[in-house]
Amino acid sequence: MDRKVVVLTGAGGVLCSTLAVALAAQGHKIAVLDLKKEAAQKVANEINASGGTAIGVVANVLEKDSLETAKKEINDQLGPCDILVNGAGGNHPLGTTSNPYLEENDLSDTTEGFKTFFDLDTSGIQFTFNLNFIGTLLPTQVFALDMVGRSGCSILNISSMNAFTPLTKIPAYSGAKAAVSNFTQWLAVHFSKVGIRVNALAPGFFLTDQNRALLTQSDGSLTPRGNQIIDQTPMGKFGKPEDLIGTTLWLCSEGASFVTGVVVPVDGGFSAYSGV
Ligand code: NAD
Repeated sequence: MDRKVVVLTGAGGVLCSTLAVALAAQGHKIAVLDLKKEAAQKVANEINASGGTAIGVVANVLEKDSLETAKKEINDQLGPCDILVNGAGGNHPLGTTSNPYLEENDLSDTTEGFKTFFDLDTSGIQFTFNLNFIGTLLPTQVFALDMVGRSGCSILNISSMNAFTPLTKIPAYSGAKAAVSNFTQWLAVHFSKVGIRVNALAPGFFLTDQNRALLTQSDGSLTPRGNQIIDQTPMGKFGKPEDLIGTTLWLCSEGASFVTGVVVPVDGGFSAYSGV
């Protein structure tokens, strides 16, 4: 079996921990990289306990030194990186408006925490752009050096639905993920002569701990935004993290050896549906 060394950033989190376990089950050696040491180690322990090979590695995707230290540890313990999954990402409340649309009387609303477009804070916008875009670029600079000129190497970025058409309320996160999709295409072209394929997943809506309170009520029924999403998703349901596995294994395998620069929606039809 072709055992690759796979580095996944943000792999202590919901989606990429699932991808780490699935890639380990294919026999690959896994570096579970995350800012949170315990979260990374927990996933690595789970993989090792079920017969796979994994190490938990702490690193900050926004600090090149930290990534270089992580790379040394990974190279020493597992070997050179063959596959990089750039999974660390997320949004920030200071880059998010309270309402989808601006109404005239919003400007005089003094409710604590109420935010219109005019209240958006550059710190929240910068946080979101840095985490999603710089947090994809820096790990690529560090780990793709291992891949140059070797065969069977690839990078998988994690974009989002909102990269195709922005979602209401989250201009920073939508713009940052659009940058990730654009960068995926740029990098695919740039790396095309040195044997590194670069693709991305664009997950639709997955019910995770981060968005559960936004999408469901305490009795399990949907919030208005949760209902809106389900109404706009032809398959009529949220995704499960496991729904990303098939596309990930395909894009990281020889089965996709002539596929580079694509952003694949895994969204139950959300991006295909006009709403009518
Ligand atoms: P998550 O919050 O569960 O996981 C993200 C992980 O990244 C966390 O473990 C966190 O500790 C880690 N992280 C954060 N900042 C970091 C940093 N600076 N350095 C290293 N690690 C850092 O999120 P998730 O839902 O699993 O999302 C994974 C990816 O998928 C993200 O890029 C997210 O934007 C994207 N995505 C998620 C959804 C969804 O519905 N959950 C939809 C579309 C796209």
